[in-house]
Amino acid sequence: MGNLPLEVKVEIPNGISYTQPTGLFINNEFVYPKDKKTFEDISPATEEVITEVYEAKEEDIDIAVDAAIEAYKTWSVSKPELRQKVLLKLADLIDENAELLSSIETYDNGKSLQNSKGDIALAAAYFRSCAGWCDKITGNVINTGGQHFNYTQRVPLVCGQIIPWNFPILMLSWKLGPVLATGSTTVLKSAEQTPLSALYIAKLLAEAGMPKGVVNIVSGFGKIAGAAIASHMKLDKVAFTGSTLVGKTIMKAAAESNLKKVTLELGGKSPNIVFDDADLDESIQHIITGIFYNSGEVCCAGSRVLIQSGIYDKVVAKLKKAAEAIKVGNPFDPDTFMGAQVSEVQMSKILQYIESGKEQGAKVISGGKRGDAKGYFVQPTIFGDVEGHMKIAKEEIFGPVVTLIKFDTVEEAIELANDTEYGLAAGIHSSDVNKCIGVANKINAGTIWVNTYNDFHPMVPFGGFHSSGIGREMGEEVFNEYTQTKAVRIKLNTSRF
Ligand code: ADP
Repeated sequence: MGNLPLEVKVEIPNGISYTQPTGLFINNEFVYPKDKKTFEDISPATEEVITEVYEAKEEDIDIAVDAAIEAYKTWSVSKPELRQKVLLKLADLIDENAELLSSIETYDNGKSLQNSKGDIALAAAYFRSCAGWCDKITGNVINTGGQHFNYTQRVPLVCGQIIPWNFPILMLSWKLGPVLATGSTTVLKSAEQTPLSALYIAKLLAEAGMPKGVVNIVSGFGKIAGAAIASHMKLDKVAFTGSTLVGKTIMKAAAESNLKKVTLELGGKSPNIVFDDADLDESIQHIITGIFYNSGEVCCAGSRVLIQSGIYDKVVAKLKKAAEAIKVGNPFDPDTFMGAQVSEVQMSKILQYIESGKEQGAKVISGGKRGDAKGYFVQPTIFGDVEGHMKIAKEEIFGPVVTLIKFDTVEEAIELANDTEYGLAAGIHSSDVNKCIGVANKINAGTIWVNTYNDFHPMVPFGGFHSSGIGREMGEEVFNEYTQTKAVRIKLNTSRF
C-alpha cells in the first residue's frame, strides 16, 4: 500500500507494452489518494492481476469536486471554439492510439479485440459529433409583448458521472462528450473492474489541451466513491450507467442530499421480434449479434427473441448453427467474436441463470456451460421452450444467454414484447415496412431497431422507458441533460423613445 508508482509498465498479451497511469486524475495531474490505498485489477481472460491502481475515497471525491467547481468558473464561459478544438483533438488522439486503447480495453475487460476496436471508433466519432454541437447550444428570445424583453440561457453544470465496466471507453465518451461541449465540468468514476482505459484517456485529455479541473477521473468502488458522488452536496447533477438496482440507490442518494439532477441508463430485457416475412439470414445475423455481441454484456441486448410460429423451427436450426460457429476464447485472436465475461462474479451469476433455466424446464439448444479454457468464459447459450414466468425470461442476465419464445399473431408479439418492467430497446424484423412501423408505434422502448440491432449513431438519442432509466444520451437531447435553463425577463422603460 502506498508504494505503487503513479505509472507502471504493462505488457499486454498481444505484445504491446505501454505506460499505465495508476493515480487519481485531478486538475490534469495524476495524484495519490489521501490514504494511498490501492486495489487489484484483474484480466478476465487470464485471471491474472494486470496491475494495482489507486482508490478514491470520500475525501478524494471532495478534492476532485472542488477542482471541477474551480474549473467551472472559466470553462462554463469559455469560447465554444476552444471546447470544439479540445474535442476534435481528443477524437484525433483516440484514433491515433486506437490500437493501444483497444488492446488495453480487451486486456482489462476481456471483450474480444474486434469488439474493442468497434468501441474505440464509436467513441472517437461521438467526441467529433459533440465538437460540432459546441457552437449550436444556444438560448431563445421569447416575445411576450408589452414592455418586456425575455431571453433564456443554457447554463452548464458541475457533474458527477459513474460508468460501468461493459464499455469502459464508449460509456466514458457518452458522458464526457456533452460535458465538454456544454461547458460543464465533472468528476467521473470508472467501474472498479475496468479502471485502466479511463486513466489512459485522462492523459489524452490533458494532451488535447483541456484546461485543468474540467474533467477529473477517479478509480474506486461503487459503495464508497460512487456513493460519495451520488450524495455530494456540491454537485448539480449525477449521471449513471449501470444496473437498475444501483440506479435506484443513486436516485435516492441524489434526492436525500441536494436534489441534484439525475440521469440513469439502466438495465433491459429487450425483445427482438422475427416475423414470418423477414429476410431470414439477415435476421439471424442480427439476433446473433443482438445477444452475443460483447459477450452479452450489453444493457440493450436482444435477450428475448420472439419468433413467429411459421418460421420457428427454421430459425431455431439456423440460430443453433450460427451460435455454435461463434469463436469464443482468447480475446486477442482476431477471429474471436466472444471473449471473457468481465469477472468471476459476473460469470457465476450467468451460470446460475443457466442452471435456473434448466431447472425450470427450458430446453438448452446450444451452449449452456462455462468455457473450457482458463478465464471467465461462457458458451453462447440458447434456450428454447421458454415460458414467460421463468427467471431467464424475466430477469436481466447480462451475459450470452438468449430465450426463444414462439408467437402467432402481431398482437401477441406486441403483448409479449411489452411484458417486461424494462423498456430500453427492441428489434423488429420483417420485410413489410408498414408492419414494422405499426409495431414500433406500439412497443414501449426508448430505441426500436428495424431490420438491424445494436446499431448506434451519435445523432440518434439512446435511453430507456420505465425501469430502464431516465433521460437520454447522444443526439440533440443529451445537451438538455447537461444544461439547465435560466430565463431572464426584463421590464423595459421605452416610454422615452
Ligand atoms: P454491476 O452490478 O453489474 O457491477 P453496477 O450497476 O453495480 O453494475 O455498477 C456500475 C457502476 O456503478 C460502477 O462504476 C460501480 O462502481 C457503481 N456503483 C455500484 N454501486 C454503487 C452505489 N451504491 N453508489 C454509486 N455507484 C455505485
